Amino acid sequence: MKVVIWGCRGSLPTPLTALDVRAKIERALAFAADHDISTPAARQYLIDHALPFWVHGTYGGNTPCVQIIGPQAVKGCKEYILCDAGSGLRSFGDAMARAEEERACRSTGDVTPTTTAQAQPRAGARFHILLSHLHYDHLQGFPFFRQAWAAGSEIHFYGCHPGMQEAVERHQGQPFFPVQFDKLPASIHFHILEPEKDVNLAGVTVQPFMQDHPGDSYGFRFTYEGRSIVYSTDSEHREHANHESYGFLRHFQDANVVIFDAQYPLREAIYTKENWGHSNNFIGVELAVRANVGHLVLFHHDPVSSDRVLDDLQHATQSYADMCAPLGKLRVSIAYDGLEFEV
Ligand SMILES: [Zn+2]
Ligand SMILES: [Zn+2]
Repeated sequence: MKVVIWGCRGSLPTPLTALDVRAKIERALAFAADHDISTPAARQYLIDHALPFWVHGTYGGNTPCVQIIGPQAVKGCKEYILCDAGSGLRSFGDAMARAEEERACRSTGDVTPTTTAQAQPRAGARFHILLSHLHYDHLQGFPFFRQAWAAGSEIHFYGCHPGMQEAVERHQGQPFFPVQFDKLPASIHFHILEPEKDVNLAGVTVQPFMQDHPGDSYGFRFTYEGRSIVYSTDSEHREHANHESYGFLRHFQDANVVIFDAQYPLREAIYTKENWGHSNNFIGVELAVRANVGHLVLFHHDPVSSDRVLDDLQHATQSYADMCAPLGKLRVSIAYDGLEFEV
């Protein structure tokens, strides 16, 4: 399987400001002053191997949307699995339309380049969108999902909240959006899932499970050919998570990857933001070690966390993981928009 992160920010989209970009340029120029940057290869090397990620990149500002890639084509139909419909869903839809356009141009020999804005989605794809819950940051990308505006697209929503359909439709109702949900040309369906009951989506086994969050949220465990990915965002782990008998651990047990809500630093999570429905990086490590997880991906970043803060968070979390488990046993990554990895 493969994972692509299209949106990793929690609560609301968080774009960089002009000052943020300027600070990155300033730092890069200061750093470059002591290095050879006379050739493209030297500059490339500096960017890739010397500058920290917070300087040469950004963790990004889109709200949650994660693509799980399994066998993809089932019975001749292109199928896509997505977790949540935050603003990252727009980036997924745009990238997909652009890739389809380029493929079509190649097959017809037409080399006319198109911009992403011109690329038209092709009919015949089926999208499976699993909603962890119905808060804005997990829905707000859908009205801008290009494939919802294409006749011939098939979109299936899945979730465990009985009010899911009403919430998705209302979110795109008057006076919040100019075009009403029932005017979308795509064929759209809703499916209520039962917690802890497996379903098969596009060849991948999916099991939803309940999480501690205001109004409840649900995580999803994906299994395909013996490999497992757990998507667990908007989920609080309180003091009783330290007990040996913490039942929630079974959802993480032996997973290859856990995408984990680590929105708040430990101090805030315990003292000022208890009951807000989110977790911290340290409890993520402890649960991952106890459940024998291979790769922990920190996710749902706080909008107030800068790229530099998130860089530090990744290093501190990896150090803690190396203290809690034999060196290299638990790999820690921090999600950014555009991150892709094999599972
Ligand atoms: Zn959220
Ligand atoms: Zn939430």
